[in-house]
Amino acid sequence: MKNNADFQRRVLVVDDEEVNMLLLGAILEQKYAVTYATNGQEAWKIIQEDGGEGISAVLLDLIMPEMDGFEVLRLMQEKGLLSKIPVIVLTAEKSAEVKSLSLGVADFLSKPYDPSEVILARVGHAIKLFEDARIIQATEYDSLTPLYTPKFFFEYSSQFEARNPDVKTDAIVINFTRFHLLNEHHGRATGDTVLKKIADALIAFVREHGGFACRYADDMFYLFVPHQDDYNAILSAVQYSLSEILSGSEIRIRMGIYADRNRTHRIERRFDRAQQACNSLRSQFGSSFAIYDTKMREKDVFDARLLQDFEKAIQEKQFKVSYQPKYNIKGSEPHLCSAEALVSWIHPELGRIRPDSFIPLFEENGLVQILDRYVWTEVARQLKEWKEKFGFYMAVSVNVSRVDILAPDIMDFILKITEENGVPHHEYLLEVTESAYTENSDQIIDVVRAFREKGFRVEMDDFGSGYSSLNMLSALPIDALKMDKAFIMNIERGNKEMRIVEMILDIAKFLNVPVVAEGVETKEQLDLLRNAGCDIIQGYYFSRPVPPQEFEAFIVKEQSLSGGSAK
Ligand code: C2E
Ligand code: CA
Ligand code: CA
Repeated sequence: MKNNADFQRRVLVVDDEEVNMLLLGAILEQKYAVTYATNGQEAWKIIQEDGGEGISAVLLDLIMPEMDGFEVLRLMQEKGLLSKIPVIVLTAEKSAEVKSLSLGVADFLSKPYDPSEVILARVGHAIKLFEDARIIQATEYDSLTPLYTPKFFFEYSSQFEARNPDVKTDAIVINFTRFHLLNEHHGRATGDTVLKKIADALIAFVREHGGFACRYADDMFYLFVPHQDDYNAILSAVQYSLSEILSGSEIRIRMGIYADRNRTHRIERRFDRAQQACNSLRSQFGSSFAIYDTKMREKDVFDARLLQDFEKAIQEKQFKVSYQPKYNIKGSEPHLCSAEALVSWIHPELGRIRPDSFIPLFEENGLVQILDRYVWTEVARQLKEWKEKFGFYMAVSVNVSRVDILAPDIMDFILKITEENGVPHHEYLLEVTESAYTENSDQIIDVVRAFREKGFRVEMDDFGSGYSSLNMLSALPIDALKMDKAFIMNIERGNKEMRIVEMILDIAKFLNVPVVAEGVETKEQLDLLRNAGCDIIQGYYFSRPVPPQEFEAFIVKEQSLSGGSAK
């Protein structure tokens, strides 16, 4: 009988007595592809090369010259192969059965052999058991660490809860900030080693306290544990296990907790909330944890409302673009050089909503693309209107989120709207936040480069809040650095923020790119920045972001100053 060779499993028969080998082989060939070996050495060579990938079972004689069956078993055990390939021992002695079973063999066939159906059934059974176990093993445990997969984690966690109705539990999410830097700077293998260390720390923790752990995604871990009083202890445990690797690096541990009070929510939902608590720490500097609380709950409800109202808001044009002037202060008089377009939502019931309340939310689910394209189009249209009114195209920058850049048609879209409104590329500026460059940096740099080749200007927003290296900066194609307003708002002569600002100005000078300071509110800040060599200023000192009609006053004023043009 010939089966389709592709679907035929392979078994290895090892016996030094040819008669036995042929007898057994004839039976097995009815169902399997059979490979033969006449001594232990030969067998071990075949097994080792195969590594458990192609051979479904080994039928192994124990008493053989040179290398006997026990030695083959020992070697297989040593290399972890006994858990990959079932071994069925061929023996004539009762005493050998006990010994071989203790070595971890799957089954044994005693000589003289049973009828062929019995042999085929036992071999088939051993193979099936092993294959089932391997499938379960593969889905129960993470591919990289000894932790559960999410599916089994949730399953065991809910079983635990069902069996322990009185035990209070916590859902804990552990995540890392800038973990990708580890892979980028030290290679994936180092990243994997660290993930395994984290897994070990978590396993040690659940062994001591009870509960379950899993790797939910890349560098994100879930813990379901009996309620803890001291979350710092968990944080320290993970931190401690990694102290060597993390010391001096920018990687931080973030931990979000949903402490269960009444089990009203399914476990998955509790982890969503722990995740949310964890996300709230994104901009935090040191390692830390956050517990999901009423404030987050309220934010949850608010966010849900915003998501629900988004589509209608776009249709009804509830999003309004304001313009905040940027001034060049190099000469004796400040000159209007461009403006930043900023969006806000005039909600019919909730009133004016600042972008900080909805942009991060819309960035999470991609809606920001729809919103930004709406804003960009509106800005292009406005520029054309101003051109008709004042005779020139005003330079305006728009904000571009990371998600926007990753969309393959972003270039086509911006080319289309600028062309439709006759806007020269040079007057349409794109602000890309520094942190966008740290993930998928190659792709982002490519897109930025392509925009600059088309003549658009690109500014790096919020510079100083991220972790660009000097190396990366010098390779980056940009037209201006916008210093993060977090520094500017706190500058005083000689203080730390001022020193950072001076350092940034030095770097920019070295790279030959202009610097924009935003968030300038006072004359003192303006003077400090001017003296330090910063040329372009944006901030409440000159104006808040204002509606387009109000912004026209700035254009008119500039035209009267410079005798007809705002350039
Ligand atoms: P950003 O890009 O850093 O924009 C500057 C923010 O600083 C604006 O806040 C502006 O109103 C504020 N600001 C300017 N000068 C001062 C000052 O002197 N003092 C203080 N305290 N604040 C000042 P806004 O309008 O609330 O926008 C917040 C953020 O929302 C923006 O930060 C930007 O990241 C994002 N955003 C705004 N509009 C858009 C948009 O159309 N698309 C996208 N993707 N993001 C946007
Ligand atoms: Ca900006
Ligand atoms: Ca900014």
